[in-house]
Formats: sequence, structure tokens, C-alpha cells
Amino acid sequence: MTRMGKADRPAYVIPLELGQFWRTPTMSIQSVDPDQAIARLMRFLSIEGITGQEQAIGTDVVRCLRELGIPEDAIRFDHANAQIPLPTQTGNLIVTLPGTKPGPRRLFSTHLDTVPLCAGAAPIRKGNRIVPQGQTALGGDNRTGVACLVTMLAELYARRIPYGPMTVLFTVREESGLWGARTVDLKDLGNPVMGFNVDGGSPRNITIGAVGADRWEVEIVGKAAHAGVHPERGISATIVAARALAVIYKAGWFGKVKKGGQQGTSNVGPVGDAQGRCAGQATNVVTDYVKVQGESRSHDIKFITAITSAYRQAFKQAATEVRDDQGKTAKVKFHNFRSYFPYRLKPASPVVQAAQGVASALGWQTTLHLSNGGLDANWLARHGIPTLTFGAGQHDVHTIREYADLDEFLEGCSYALALAAQT
Ligand SMILES: [Zn+2]
Repeated sequence: MTRMGKADRPAYVIPLELGQFWRTPTMSIQSVDPDQAIARLMRFLSIEGITGQEQAIGTDVVRCLRELGIPEDAIRFDHANAQIPLPTQTGNLIVTLPGTKPGPRRLFSTHLDTVPLCAGAAPIRKGNRIVPQGQTALGGDNRTGVACLVTMLAELYARRIPYGPMTVLFTVREESGLWGARTVDLKDLGNPVMGFNVDGGSPRNITIGAVGADRWEVEIVGKAAHAGVHPERGISATIVAARALAVIYKAGWFGKVKKGGQQGTSNVGPVGDAQGRCAGQATNVVTDYVKVQGESRSHDIKFITAITSAYRQAFKQAATEVRDDQGKTAKVKFHNFRSYFPYRLKPASPVVQAAQGVASALGWQTTLHLSNGGLDANWLARHGIPTLTFGAGQHDVHTIREYADLDEFLEGCSYALALAAQT
């Protein structure tokens, strides 16, 4: 890689005042090597690894860790893929290090997978950004996180910077339901007391909480009949779905939902048959089966349940209103699944205080946020590890306009490094 034009900008150089964190008197200024960090990011962006297919990127990260001199017995894959109910090539990659000084164990996490729109992505450098060459997304979500944490380890090892006990977790299948973080075993992580998840844009925006979500699906079973000869003998599953959704919309349960001081969102996703094809096979047959899938989200767990219940009620009610000539009604089977739980860290909690302490030592203004999307941190918090999330330069993720901002990426690397070395 060519050297960055702004390689010496102070934003990702950790100033001397951080001496209290570093205890390495031979080093006057702490910063990450920008050329090596960016080369790592390009390397990881070049490897395809859409959600569920993390074998190649996992293998390359392991190769990179060995190159850094991280001992073989500190690196392993868990068996998360055996528990994930979707085809998944490999488990989570876990690096457990004793550290070179005592202290409570810290967790650093990020996800290995990218969204399917990243398949075949070829990263190219464009000024201070990395962009995809063709009509794909880039995969900066979340290879910026992967390169950030590998760079953190590279700097700790190469420069013998003292650090406390540490676990680095690279999860699988984040993009398809936070599965790696959901199924990880706390014991495999060595019981860390706090967690730092890297997955976002600027490292100065710190996410301390996120919504929870239900995914639900309803199967509507009606009765087929010839639509021209004997339509009265049919029970249209399509009409049941339409009536239910009309009620949901009118009652304010669709989209942004605000009721009784509570807020959330909901959406209706795929509508089709049991195999995912279109519902209804012909115009001349009363449609006897429709499957509708959707979701409900809120920062308040009770309100997630309330939104999902409103959908359940609407479908059950609509089923009683659509009848054949014998008075028979449709049947509905409604299933819901808690995809992830909401969580919120207190600004005064030790993990937020630790992050803000490092940020202020760097001279950064940080902001604390709540996210309306789920993060691996949701499940890590659920497992009992208070975890916040910061970014390492991903932008316009899940689109073909995706790019990685290299200034923010390097800032993210420095931030992770400073957190690892913090006392
Ligand atoms: Zn992500």
C-alpha cells in the first residue's frame, strides 16, 4: 500500500499523556502502523465470506495471527456451528491470551461475516477510502472490525506493549441473526468482565444499548376451490392476510409504533407459500395457503411482546371473518421467536467509563448512542458481559455504495489498542 497522505495526523496517534496506560518508557508516541493496518484491511476485504460461509476468512485470520507470533494454543474455533440451525461452515474464532500484566479479563469482539451483497467484492483504494470495484457491497461491515482487532494484537505483540488478560472473539453469522454471539459459551471466553465490540462507523460514536426483536411468522390455511365455478366453497388465505394487515395498519401497529408512551417498530416481510414461492398458484383457484413473515422491535421488552401480540390477535380475528358456504373458517398458526433481547448500559457503568476514559485521554469528544438495530453486543450483554460497540470506519453498509473510511479505521485501531493497554 502507498502511504496515507494524512498518516501523521494526530487523530489516530495516541499522545504522550497516555503514559499512564502504557508503561513503555522506550516509546514516546503510541500509534498503529498505518501501512500495515491498511494492508491488513485490504487483505481481509479481498476474501469472500458471506454469512454462514466464514471458513476462508477464519482460516486467513488464523494465518495472520500465527504470523504475528500468537501461540497456537491460544487460538481455536468453538462449536457454535453445530448449534446454529442454519448451514454454517465454522464456529466462532476465539483467541484467549493471559496478558502480560494482571487485571480483569477484557473481551474484544467483531464479526467475520459479510452480507450476501458482498459476494465477489473486489476492494480498491480511492483516496482516503476503500470502495468496491464492481456492483457489490464492500464488506467493510465487518472486515474493518476484523482488521482493527488483528491490528490491535499486531501492535501489542510487535511492540511488547503491556496488556491485561484478554479474549478476542470473531463471530460467525452475525448478519443472519447474531447467531455466533447467541451460541457462544461464556466459559469459552474465560469469563470477561466487560466487552468492546467493533462494528460501526466512527469510533467516537459509542453504542451503549440496542433494541430487541421478535421474528414471527403466521401460516394461514384456507380451502381451495374453483374460483369461477364454486368460489363460495373456498376459504381465501389471501383475504385473511389482507384483512389482518389492514387492521394492523389502521390500529397503528405497523412501521413506527407509538402507544402509551412506548415506542417500537414492526414490519411485514416475505409473503408467500410454504416453500417461499408466491402465495396462490393460479388466478382461477381460491388460494388455500399463505405464509407471512415479519418482525417487531423495541428497546422495551414488554413492548416487543405487545407488538407481536397485536399481529397474532389480528390474524386470529381475521381468520374467523372469512368463511366458506358451510360457515367454515380459516386456521392460523402463529409462531414467534425472540431474535435478540434489548439491552442498555448505564453511562456510569465500568465499561462505559473505561471507554470514555481512553477517549478523553485521546482528546476525543464521544457521543453515547442507542441503536435501533441488533448487534452481537445484545447477546454478549445477555450472556452477562456488559458490552459496548464502537466503529472502525464502515459506511453505507449493505449497499453497493459501501466504503471504508481510512481515517476512522485507523482511529478505531488506535482506540482498540488503547483500550487493550488501559490500566
Ligand atoms: Zn456489522
